[in-house]
Amino acid sequence: MSAVATLPRALPPLDHEQLLVRRGPRSGLLTIVAVHSTVRGPSLGGCRMWTYAEPADAVRDALLLSRAMTYKAAVAGLPLGGGKGVIMLEPGMRLTARRRRDALRDFGETVEQLGGAYVTAEDVGISSRDMPVIAEETTHVSGLAVSRGGSGDPSPFTALGVETAIAATCAAVFGSPDLRGRSIAVIGLGHVGSRVATRCARAGATLVVADVDEGKRALAERLGARWSTPAEALRAEVDLVAPCALGGLLDAESVVDLRCRAIAGAANNQLAADDVAELLAARGILWAPDFVVNAGGIVNIAVELEPSGYDAATARRRVRAIGRTLADIFAAAAEAAITPLAAASALGERRLAEPGEAARRALASRRVFAQGAKPAAG
Ligand code: NAD
Repeated sequence: MSAVATLPRALPPLDHEQLLVRRGPRSGLLTIVAVHSTVRGPSLGGCRMWTYAEPADAVRDALLLSRAMTYKAAVAGLPLGGGKGVIMLEPGMRLTARRRRDALRDFGETVEQLGGAYVTAEDVGISSRDMPVIAEETTHVSGLAVSRGGSGDPSPFTALGVETAIAATCAAVFGSPDLRGRSIAVIGLGHVGSRVATRCARAGATLVVADVDEGKRALAERLGARWSTPAEALRAEVDLVAPCALGGLLDAESVVDLRCRAIAGAANNQLAADDVAELLAARGILWAPDFVVNAGGIVNIAVELEPSGYDAATARRRVRAIGRTLADIFAAAAEAAITPLAAASALGERRLAEPGEAARRALASRRVFAQGAKPAAG
C-alpha cells in the first residue's frame, strides 16, 4: 500500500446531482465537490486533501465518497444528503503553509458556489484547525469549535461509533460484544484510527497496528500493540481487522489472503467494488458496511442542527445506536441470505424513498442552514 490513493478505474454510476471541478485561483490546485443527493436534506461530507496520480482519480474519489455519504446519512436516519470535497495534491507535492492556506480558501470558495447544497467537514488530510480557514470563504462549513457554534472535531464520535460497531460485529461472529481477549488489527492511526486503537486496547483487546507514517509507532508502544506494515496487518491472523486509513483495500486479490473472521472500520469505501462483499461472504468473513460503521461523525453534526442546539451527551447516546443498527442489518442479511452490504443498501434505499417525514425534516434543516447555523463532519 502507498500513500497515493489507488482507486478502481471504472467510473462509478453517475447518479449525482452536481459535480463541480474548479482550479483554485490562489493555489492553482484542483478543488472538487460532488453532491450526490439532497433528497433528505443538504448534502454533507468531509473534505479530503490527498495525493492522486491523476485528476480523474480525484474526481472518481469524490463521486464514490459522496454516494456513500447519501447512504450513510439515510441509514443513520438523518435529515441530510450526501456530498464530498477533495483538494487534489499531485504526487511528490509538498505545500508551504501559505499555499496550503490558499488551497483551503479556494476550496471554501468552491463550496460557497454551491449555495448550501453542500456543507463541508473534515476528512483525511484536513484538521479542525483548517475549518476556520475554509470558513473565511463560505458559511457552509462544519467542524468549527464549539465556542464558534460548531460541534468541533468529529473524529472522537466517529471512533466511538466504530468501537460500538466492532463490539456488535464481534457479537454477531463470536456471540459476545466483549472485546476482552479479542485480537484486532487497526490499519491507519490518524484522527479516528488512533482513537479506535486506544478504545479497543482499553476494552482489553490485543492489537496489531499499522500506518504508512512511521511516526505512529510511538502510539503502538504506548498501547502495547504490535507494530506492522499495512499489508501485513490486513493479512494478520486476528479476530477482526479495522481499516481506518483509505478505501479500496478490499479487492478480489486481497480478500484471498485475509485470515480474520470479521472486518469493521472507519475507512470509507473499503470495497474496491460492490461484488467484493460476496467474495467476503463466501470466505465466511463478516464485513460490517463501512457507511454504517463510520456514521458517528455525521450523527454528531446532526445533533448540532436541532433547534435545541448542540449537546455532546445526546450525540454520544445517538452514536452508540450504531451498534443496534448494525445488529439489525446483520440479522436482516442472515434472514434473507444476502450480504450485509445488500441489507444496508436496501435500508438506505427505503429511507431515501420515505415520503412526507423525510421531506419535512429536510425542509426544516434547510431552514436552519439558511439561518446560518453551522453543521459539522463525515
Ligand atoms: P487521518 O488523515 O487523520 O488519518 C489517516 C491515517 O491513515 C494517517 O495516519 C495516514 O498516515 C494513514 N494512512 C494513509 N494511507 C495509508 C495506508 N495505505 N496504509 C496505512 N495507513 C495509511 O484521517 P481520519 O480522519 O482518521 O479518517 C480515516 C478514515 O476514516 C478515512 O477513510 C475517512 O474518510 C474515514 N472517516 C473519517 C471520519 C472522521 O470523523 N474523521 C468520519 C467518517 C469516516
